[in-house]
Amino acid sequence: MGTKKGSFGEITKLIATWTDEMVAVQQELTAIQALGPESGGKGEWARALYLRNLLEGWGLNDIQEYNAADPRVPEGTRPNLVVRLAGKAARPTIWVMAHMDVVPAGDLKKWSTDPWKATVKEGKIFGRGVEDNQQGLVSALFALRALKDSGVTPPRDVALILVADEETGSRFGIDHVLEAAPDLFQPDDLVVVPDAGNPDGSMLEVAEKSILWLELTVQGKQVHASTPDQGVNAARAAAHLTVRLDQALNGTFSGRDEVFDPPRSTFEPTRHDANVPNINTIPGDEKLFFDCRVLPDVPLREVHAVVERVLREVEREFQVKIQVQSAQSAEAAPATSVDAPVVKALARAVEEVRGVQAKPMGIGGGTVAALFRRKGIPAVVWSTMDDLAHQPDEYCVIANMVEDAKVFAHLFLGKA
Ligand SMILES: [Zn+2]
Repeated sequence: MGTKKGSFGEITKLIATWTDEMVAVQQELTAIQALGPESGGKGEWARALYLRNLLEGWGLNDIQEYNAADPRVPEGTRPNLVVRLAGKAARPTIWVMAHMDVVPAGDLKKWSTDPWKATVKEGKIFGRGVEDNQQGLVSALFALRALKDSGVTPPRDVALILVADEETGSRFGIDHVLEAAPDLFQPDDLVVVPDAGNPDGSMLEVAEKSILWLELTVQGKQVHASTPDQGVNAARAAAHLTVRLDQALNGTFSGRDEVFDPPRSTFEPTRHDANVPNINTIPGDEKLFFDCRVLPDVPLREVHAVVERVLREVEREFQVKIQVQSAQSAEAAPATSVDAPVVKALARAVEEVRGVQAKPMGIGGGTVAALFRRKGIPAVVWSTMDDLAHQPDEYCVIANMVEDAKVFAHLFLGKA
């Protein structure tokens, strides 16, 4: 069967022939650790340089840098790259944003392979960062390369933005770019962020919950465990505090919204810091944390009010002092409309390439798409993945990486 040069059929064939190259790029990226200074790393500079060379080698030379000064890294700057393929019209631009940084490997004993040496096994690549966010990054790179190689001029500009610092707050990444170049993105642009997804690629994430991380410090009085009456046991107070917060928050905010998965607000006790090293000491200090993901129709101040009430109650009952701080607090951004052009175009692309019906959905939050949505730019988070982000034995399904590249190519071609 003949396929016209530059047709979608030809481009998908071309992408499929690059499977091994895509795997090789994944392996090279994994070997170039890109940890932020918060994680004891040197940032993304070496990785950005590698990607720049790769793109230029493919003839994709329209690359702009929006670097952010950061004296903590050796080069003194964190890289953000925009590579563009000019279309017949510049606007609205179709964007894919991927982040270059990764999180630490964590406990090496939990890994079956070397996290910094991407290993191919049974159709998957294992390694830190191979899914989060190298899969989306590599898919988008090769989709753009396919258009370039085929000599296609897309109907409108296609641009990839490869950012730093996504895992540690985005201050030196997309936040910086949006500030330094306020006109780079326009409200009618189409923005896809391939940084979360589900195994069949049917989830188009258009809405997020509010995020609230609570840091609770309980202060009592440390004494020998045989003489509890001379002290104030912070461990007991902290245990009651955990249970009461759990019950009060989940009981008060039990509303449901079926766009989200899970379809309710969640309030999870998570980290609990070490207190005393020995068994026969009553601890005087406890520190514990809650991760709250709140449906957008619940203002965070209402959550704070419930927390405050429970704290005062536990303080009175157990004679402790409790302080609360928000380690993170982000009110949900306005949702991307399910009728936005980027949602429609991506749904069509997913349907044609993958044969599945894609559905707009909401998730627990924490993706950078919110930064775009707050600026009135509709953004969709989408990818085909098992969602192994930040876990040991993180992997990328090779076929997902290749098929997602075809979806991007579909999107870039502006096929109706
Ligand atoms: Zn990510």
